[in-house]
Amino acid sequence: SPNFSIGLRERTDLLPRISQAVDLIRMESELQSAIRDGELKLVYQPILHLASNTVVGFEALTRWYSPSRGLVPPSIFMPLAECTSLIIPVGEWVVKTAFEAMRQMEQVTGNTPFISLNIANRQIEEPGLTDYLVNQAQCYGIPRQRIKLEILERTLMDSQLAPRWMEECRQLGFPLTLDDFGTGYSSLGYLNQYQFDTLKLDKSFVQELEDNASSRSICKAIIDLSHALGMTVVAEGIEQATQGELLADMGCSYGQGYFYAKPLSLGQAIEFLQEHQPSPHGVS
Ligand code: C2E
Ligand code: MG
Ligand code: MG
Ligand code: MG
Repeated sequence: SPNFSIGLRERTDLLPRISQAVDLIRMESELQSAIRDGELKLVYQPILHLASNTVVGFEALTRWYSPSRGLVPPSIFMPLAECTSLIIPVGEWVVKTAFEAMRQMEQVTGNTPFISLNIANRQIEEPGLTDYLVNQAQCYGIPRQRIKLEILERTLMDSQLAPRWMEECRQLGFPLTLDDFGTGYSSLGYLNQYQFDTLKLDKSFVQELEDNASSRSICKAIIDLSHALGMTVVAEGIEQATQGELLADMGCSYGQGYFYAKPLSLGQAIEFLQEHQPSPHGVS
């Protein structure tokens, strides 16, 4: 009979992959306890009205502070959460934490910015997300139009349930955002087919704006098209003043990026909001 262990020993080429798999399994169980042990933190990146330099909303982004691994970026643990069912408790934790934060922002500043939540493919596939959002929004007293849901183009392509889910969100009054536009297939068909409230212009375009005339043309075309279709445009990844100015000149009204603020703790977000809030009289 074949001796498996000897066969495996000869396949030393597989060892790195096996140890990677073992580490993923370990990370999965660590992530499971991370939720319970409070190792997840939500940070909030301001989204600004460019012309007036005032905050209109925040994007919630998840961080995992692992005692053994240090800060694990979402690009690592989100895909892991997505291929296990952990994305469901993580997603629910994000919703609750973000809504509690909104309540505090409003109580402290008297201001009512929107919150933008990233929704993974797998969260749409699982029933119950919209019910959860509706219940929690009611529980925290947050109007649904202040809760924007960001999905990736990939989700539209991969998930057969996406069209129905999006229609449900639209009917319930949760505005939808198409995230990272420009990185995937950037299908104009999707823009036509689905009613997005907002389009996020991917940071890869924004960062090429100054040096690359064709990036400028593409940005301008996307901004004009979005407006023609009734969508708002948020430019992502603005790291320099000139990028924000160029975008504003092109008619892009909103933006986010390190130039304005990095993703902030709730306390910092509240301070930032107080320093950049729209004047109550509409003059800024
Ligand atoms: P995203 O939704 O496109 O989020 C924007 C990313 O760009 C964030 O990375 C943010 O920190 C980063 N960013 C913001 N401003 C700048 C800038 O000026 N320059 C550069 N280079 N980057 C900037 P982050 O926080 O590492 O998140 C990465 C991705 O992970 C997110 O991309 C999102 O797809 C996913 N993600 C994060 N939190 C969650 C979550 O709670 N749920 C889900 N489903 N996905 C999440
Ligand atoms: Mg996003
Ligand atoms: Mg994005
Ligand atoms: Mg992204």
